Amino acid sequence: PLVLGIESSCDETGIGIVRGSELLANAVSSSMDEHVRFGGVIPEIASRAHLEAMIPTLEKALADANVTLDDVDAIAVTSGPGLAGALMVGVAAAKALAFATNKPLYAINHLVAHVGVGVLDGGELPKNLGALLVSGGHTEILKIDNLTRDVTLLGATIDDAAGEAYDKVARLLGLGYPGGPAIDRAAKDGNPKAIRFPRGLSVPKFMGTAEEPGPHRYDFSFSGLKTAVSRAVEHFDKRGEEVPVADVAASFQEAVVDVITKKAVLACQEQGLTTLLLGGGVAANSRLRELLAARCQSAGIELRIPPFSLCTDNGAMVAALGAQVVMAGIQPSGINFGTDTGQPVTEVSLGA
Ligand code: ATP
Ligand code: MG
Ligand code: FE
Repeated sequence: PLVLGIESSCDETGIGIVRGSELLANAVSSSMDEHVRFGGVIPEIASRAHLEAMIPTLEKALADANVTLDDVDAIAVTSGPGLAGALMVGVAAAKALAFATNKPLYAINHLVAHVGVGVLDGGELPKNLGALLVSGGHTEILKIDNLTRDVTLLGATIDDAAGEAYDKVARLLGLGYPGGPAIDRAAKDGNPKAIRFPRGLSVPKFMGTAEEPGPHRYDFSFSGLKTAVSRAVEHFDKRGEEVPVADVAASFQEAVVDVITKKAVLACQEQGLTTLLLGGGVAANSRLRELLAARCQSAGIELRIPPFSLCTDNGAMVAALGAQVVMAGIQPSGINFGTDTGQPVTEVSLGA
């Protein structure tokens, strides 16, 4: 089926068009430039930007795919999780479009769409699939028994997301926003062993054992790490010493990436997951890619990393999961569903 997907959960307005598992268009407009001076995404600004970008992005996607709205078989839209106002703009646009064109509409889970996008790069997803999602808003390990019907959340952050930690630490170090790319660059000149920062939720009390898992075996916590970096910076400031920015960045990055890769691989091993798919903006991180590749290889886990344009938020991932949902024969969602800022991964698509 030819499916048009609409994404507006955070700062990217995305319209993607797929035919089955073939990518035809992936038009994205980001309001990131407008958030830079605030050092974080401002929900009201993001919502207004979605409103302004929606029609031009739709027109661009249709032109790129060389199709018309008439050709489209179904429309898919992110209903959650995400920012309330931002989600509402995409959902309202999708409902209007579906109503005006009399096409079936599917409300899609944003997190599961980060996994579904995998079909656009390398085709059908294998059995025994796990996913690691790391972005500005999410840090999650998923188990995918059936992409359209059976997804389990194995672990998640209990406080900050990985990308959020990068952004906060970059601010502490005066590296600007968004912080991920800046820290990634700065860390290249630093010693990752200069300072031993804490690996959140890694002690036996939280981890337990494979037989008797602790309360946070596959979970993450990055707020203690952020505090530890802040203490280290204060320590240098108090002594009147220059903060060794590269060393702090490299040591912070090592702590984040070490714990993420260790827990993801552990989850795969213990849950019998033989392929791991990486998604989210932090997938751009060079150290994460390097260490995850090495640890997956040692553990005999196949690692799949879609191209970066499909890892960050986009409409093609919504269209891709939408197409899978259509092909699975799942009923459309109608036009009476709402947005769900905390939509759980178990709700892959919303029923009518
Ligand atoms: P969501 O959480 O809904 O997916 P988002 O907009 O917060 O949305 P993305 O757009 O996927 O997330 O990713 C942005 C995040 O990725 C930011 O926190 C940014 O700092 C981080 N990031 C980008 N490049 C890198 C990098 N090279 N290393 C580490 N983090 C990075
Ligand atoms: Mg974003
Ligand atoms: Fe996302």
